[in-house]
Amino acid sequence: MKIETKCLHEGYHPKNGEPLALPIYQSTTYNYDSTEHVGKLFDLTTDGHMYSRISNPTVGAVEDKIAALEGGIGALCTTSGQAASLISMLNIMKAGDHFIAASKIYGGSFNLFSVTFKRFGIECTFVDQDASEEEIQKEFRPNTKAVFGETLANPALSVLDIEKFARIAHNNQVPLIVDNTFATPILCRPIEFGADIVIHSTTKYMDGHAIQVGGVIVDSGNFNWANGKFPEFTEPDDSYHGVIYTENFGKAAYITKARVQLMRDLGVYPSANAAFLLNLGLESLSVRMERHCQNAKRVAEFLNQSDKVEGVNYPALEGDYYHQLSQKYLPLGTSGVISFTIKGTKETAVQFIDSLTLASNVVHVADVRTLVLHPASSTHRQLTESQLVDAGISPGLIRLSVGLENIEDILEDLQQAFDNI
Ligand SMILES: *Cc1c(COP(=O)(O)O)cnc(C)c1O
Repeated sequence: MKIETKCLHEGYHPKNGEPLALPIYQSTTYNYDSTEHVGKLFDLTTDGHMYSRISNPTVGAVEDKIAALEGGIGALCTTSGQAASLISMLNIMKAGDHFIAASKIYGGSFNLFSVTFKRFGIECTFVDQDASEEEIQKEFRPNTKAVFGETLANPALSVLDIEKFARIAHNNQVPLIVDNTFATPILCRPIEFGADIVIHSTTKYMDGHAIQVGGVIVDSGNFNWANGKFPEFTEPDDSYHGVIYTENFGKAAYITKARVQLMRDLGVYPSANAAFLLNLGLESLSVRMERHCQNAKRVAEFLNQSDKVEGVNYPALEGDYYHQLSQKYLPLGTSGVISFTIKGTKETAVQFIDSLTLASNVVHVADVRTLVLHPASSTHRQLTESQLVDAGISPGLIRLSVGLENIEDILEDLQQAFDNI
């Protein structure tokens, strides 16, 4: 099946006489006819649902669909993108470990890695993702356990050289974890370029309608966890009568451990209803991404030609710093998100945004509707003018998430706001 077909037909396969649409299995638990069978579930020697903190048939269908879209062997849904980042990392790291992350990543991930993980005893070194392999190699330590980056960074809109990062990670026998939220598997499938684990905030394009926060972790099944660096995969797990993940689950060691050990203990599993809503978003994902890219390209070109704009960040735009990398990794387009700097002061940006009538001023991106945000007075409000510059957030920077409205209406709204400043 091609990816458009997978969006509709992977995950749930109704049999003769069964509901065509994915049913919502609203149940905390599952019925078995013998104690022996339940015992086997607890020993992980037989497949089956036990309790909806660990798995559920509705969520399971969506997990199978997302794994198929990314080309992975399995997936685990979480209650948020933050929970996906947390579990994807804790599954391979403990206090005393270290990892390397690209510095241009989502602010929530940056806080998790730099502040909260530090309190857990896990240290992160941030690197310039455009630095040479030799430069990045210098940051590795004997206790380094992973490398992390975002395909298309939120909000910097930088494109990760996934093959370069995979090479560096694999030379050091550690996995590459890629956050593929903005790209979605429609525009880029990081596993095809060597990523080992892919995560998403499904809250963004996968849901697409601003209705349900969620996340997912996808396992490529390609990483060798028995290389000596990851004893928690090759030594008996006391919490399951001595199960050894690499021996009992082979290629699915990572994603199985994440579910049966961490999800069991941390409990951040989505409800069946949340997964049902996510599935609705996934069904139309390919069509939406195509239109988001089309509309955003037109908007980026329009902004680029405006004499009231100082600069535009949109990798699909010719002349963008990341244009060449985007041609390689995101040939179909670079999503609906654009950032641009308006000429003038912070007040000019505020006046422009407040003059928009179609675009909604919200703290969200990647929605069917066109959204706009002024980072300097919202997400980065606490920073001083000079700190804003250091963070790459100029006072006139505007983040625009181009929706699915008619392109003429979107451009007209932007034009009248420009006329107003
Ligand atoms: C929003 C976002 C997250 C966090 O996801 P939530 O669903 O809001 O918890 C992580 N990574 C990226 C790239 C995001 O855009």
